[in-house]
Amino acid sequence: MLLVTGSIGIDTVETPFGKSRDCLGGSAIFFSLAASNFTDVRFLGVVGDDCPFDLKKLFAGRNVDLKGLEHRHGSKTFRWHGSYAGSMNEATTKLTELNVLGEAPAIFPSAYTDSEYVFLANTHPAIQLEILSKVSGCRFCAADTMNLWINNTKEQLAEMISRIDLLFVNDAEARELTGSYNLVSACEKILAMGPKTVILKKGENGVFTASNDGSFFALPAFPTREVVDPTGAGDSFAGGVMGYIAKAQSTQPEVMRNAIAYGTACASFAISDFSTAGVQKATPKLLEARVEMLRSFVSF
Ligand code: AMP
Repeated sequence: MLLVTGSIGIDTVETPFGKSRDCLGGSAIFFSLAASNFTDVRFLGVVGDDCPFDLKKLFAGRNVDLKGLEHRHGSKTFRWHGSYAGSMNEATTKLTELNVLGEAPAIFPSAYTDSEYVFLANTHPAIQLEILSKVSGCRFCAADTMNLWINNTKEQLAEMISRIDLLFVNDAEARELTGSYNLVSACEKILAMGPKTVILKKGENGVFTASNDGSFFALPAFPTREVVDPTGAGDSFAGGVMGYIAKAQSTQPEVMRNAIAYGTACASFAISDFSTAGVQKATPKLLEARVEMLRSFVSF
């Protein structure tokens, strides 16, 4: 069983292709939409009174358990406003209102304690740590983070990273976290913090992976003309990776490589439209077809 905790956001996003105001976002949302193409997902997150989205409807027909969705009365939902320009590889954050994310973690259902695979999607590292401590059955834990937490909560973040098996991080964040401009050195410094593997996301340049057995793996992004809004690409990528791993019940190197290919396919759908519209178009069949194309692109 795959458990995810992360943000549920009211996003405002600007890209060269338009502006989407007060739309659905959040790391746990994108992750769950992608991962549910592979396996059952246990969702853990919190919204406030102002949440305008019907999450039951969003996940209808998908195996996403919403027992862990808390509606917190008297609180406000997390809000994020970001913009993209140029290559759109990185968002510029214009506004972050933590609201519920700055309070307590979502109420943890006891039925979730035996989750074997856990993804701590981007949120406050104190929340990530607290949730991880509650999952006694965890066999493999991965996490994501971002510059806000690298800059403001460095110690809690380092503690969180020391307890996980796999870290997803983008190139700029890896440089900020480690102080190394060279990305191979940055990966090695992250591995020295605790995880067995680090997956470095490089936007349109794909991913670079390093493991503590000394192995490396790289894959380009799926080549596509349809790039409208990159928001959620990283979380959808992680959803594909973790969904595949949880389905395979294995983290052997061969499985990890295939998982990264499926994550790459999920991300290519996520960027094709604003908010969750892109990732919602992905189906197991369409993902399979993109992975086969990707396989043929990189074989020589
Ligand atoms: P991604 O583009 O995959 O890195 O994730 C984008 C999503 O992350 C957006 O929908 C935001 O709502 C959410 N987000 C942005 N900043 C934060 C933050 N500091 N903590 C948690 N989630 C965030």
